[in-house]
Amino acid sequence: MSILTLELLRRLSETPGGPGDEAAVRDIIARTVHPRVDELSIDNMGNLIAIKRGSGASSRQIVLAAHMDEVAFMITKIDDDGLLHVAASGGINRRTVLGKPVQVGPDRLPGVISLRPPHLVDDPEEYRRPPKLRDLVIDIGAKDGEEAKSKVKRGQYAVFRTPFRFLAPGEAPGPNAPPPRSGRISGKAFDDRLGCAALIELLSGEPFPFDLVGVFTVQEEIGLRGALAAGSRLKPDVALILEGTLCPDLPGRWGQEQTPPTTRLGHGPAITTTDRSHITPPWLLQHILRTAEANDIPHQFKHPNVGGTDAAGFARYWGTPAAIISTPARYIHSPIAIADLADFWHGVDLVKATLHGLA
Ligand SMILES: [Zn+2]
Repeated sequence: MSILTLELLRRLSETPGGPGDEAAVRDIIARTVHPRVDELSIDNMGNLIAIKRGSGASSRQIVLAAHMDEVAFMITKIDDDGLLHVAASGGINRRTVLGKPVQVGPDRLPGVISLRPPHLVDDPEEYRRPPKLRDLVIDIGAKDGEEAKSKVKRGQYAVFRTPFRFLAPGEAPGPNAPPPRSGRISGKAFDDRLGCAALIELLSGEPFPFDLVGVFTVQEEIGLRGALAAGSRLKPDVALILEGTLCPDLPGRWGQEQTPPTTRLGHGPAITTTDRSHITPPWLLQHILRTAEANDIPHQFKHPNVGGTDAAGFARYWGTPAAIISTPARYIHSPIAIADLADFWHGVDLVKATLHGLA
């Protein structure tokens, strides 16, 4: 039976986990998968490694990986007015951030990314230019620097504060129901908590013919660092990366009228042929495609040469053949994303069938 619930998706999405500070997310995942796997450990980097022993029919070692971290703002300075100055960790879409609610530090203090009221903006250029990330400040409502410093420490993270929601169509099922096979959801950090959710589901089902090693990685958003550490230790035969990937399938200048969108919502999980740091080995790519076709699983290609993932982390160290299967999500690396549960579940189906064919 599926271990996933809408409530678990909500917690995975809403919990903060900036790069290097993934402990709260890791905790949720570890508690969830603990009864369903044979070994659970945390390596020196903070990667969570869950081993599900196979039936023994195959000696291959296959890794499934999903990253726990999300793009975040690191607090670098607390000024005398009580405002928090920040540096970005990961590629935050800076056009989307002004006036957005955030949660700061381990106590998840509410704050807002401050901006000047429109009455005071006399330079029209200020409206046209996206803000520089280094100019952003976060307001937690502290009356001065002393009060702010009593609540927040430099080096802590702020991440977006966005409630997870089940969108149309239909009523949201109860929180303890499994996520439906269709319908859309919105929330933060779908890149890559949707991959984490898929990995939880795949570790929780029936064993595979081989030992399945689930790696929930750290620090993907700042350079695939957790994957490099895990890949160098595990040296797996194959790695499949489960991602929440970008989906600019929108009308107008940055949509399909001028350039082909990288993915389309509701058109199935996205298979990567190449991205900026990785080429899927042809035999593995063809295996995934044959699997999708043989099982009638909807799927799409992600437009080539866009983005980068933990696949490169695994491939670069040990030359592990690696492929990426993603759930498309609109507006990733911003405060809110939208994804389609049908894509998510078809992705889980595709990974499961692909794994059986790798035995
Ligand atoms: Zn990602």
